[in-house]
Amino acid sequence: MSERGKIVIVAGPSGSVKSTLITKFLKEHSHYIFPTSATTRKARPGETNGVQYHFITTEEFENSIENDGFLEWALVYDHYYGTLKSTVQIGLNEGKHFLKDIDIQGAKSLMNLLDKNDLKSIFISPPSLDLLKERLLARPKEDGANIETRISEAKKEMEGAYLFDINIINDNLDEAYESFKNFILTS
Ligand code: 5GP
Repeated sequence: MSERGKIVIVAGPSGSVKSTLITKFLKEHSHYIFPTSATTRKARPGETNGVQYHFITTEEFENSIENDGFLEWALVYDHYYGTLKSTVQIGLNEGKHFLKDIDIQGAKSLMNLLDKNDLKSIFISPPSLDLLKERLLARPKEDGANIETRISEAKKEMEGAYLFDINIINDNLDEAYESFKNFILTS
């Protein structure tokens, strides 16, 4: 039987460039897989169903909750997001390595649920809340949560940073990436 896999989870307030770090790492390390989660939010331009997410309806999501289809799920800015058991639990048993961004509630759930040896956790902090606000303002406008909501959510998320194996402050993207990569590959 092959060695067990690991899941590396990456949390941090929106605007903390979690996905930039994840995308770069996955391009360079093909033995890591992005486990596609399910969500009820609408696909953004450039997103493809089944790649970034399985974009499903609220009814489909709630049916999956009832049928115990999720390892964890959370409501984030009024939309459901959930890690699929069928992808992650089976993959870990098969020795697959996963790298996934997740919100703080989902991160806490997985920390409680999974064996410590199966999980590594990374928190990405913005250098300051002012800078986070600037980054959020520079992003394309979305429906849903406004900037103020995201800032207050960010404050709440940052209070949970101490729960993670490593807290990387994203002051400089290249340096943050080096710490991110080294942690995943060597810890
Ligand atoms: P976005 O809509 O910008 O892709 O993601 C919004 C938030 O949901 C981000 O914090 C992202 O990390 C989180 N998220 C993405 N997938 C999952 C998931 O499967 N479970 C949980 N709990 N959060 C997720």
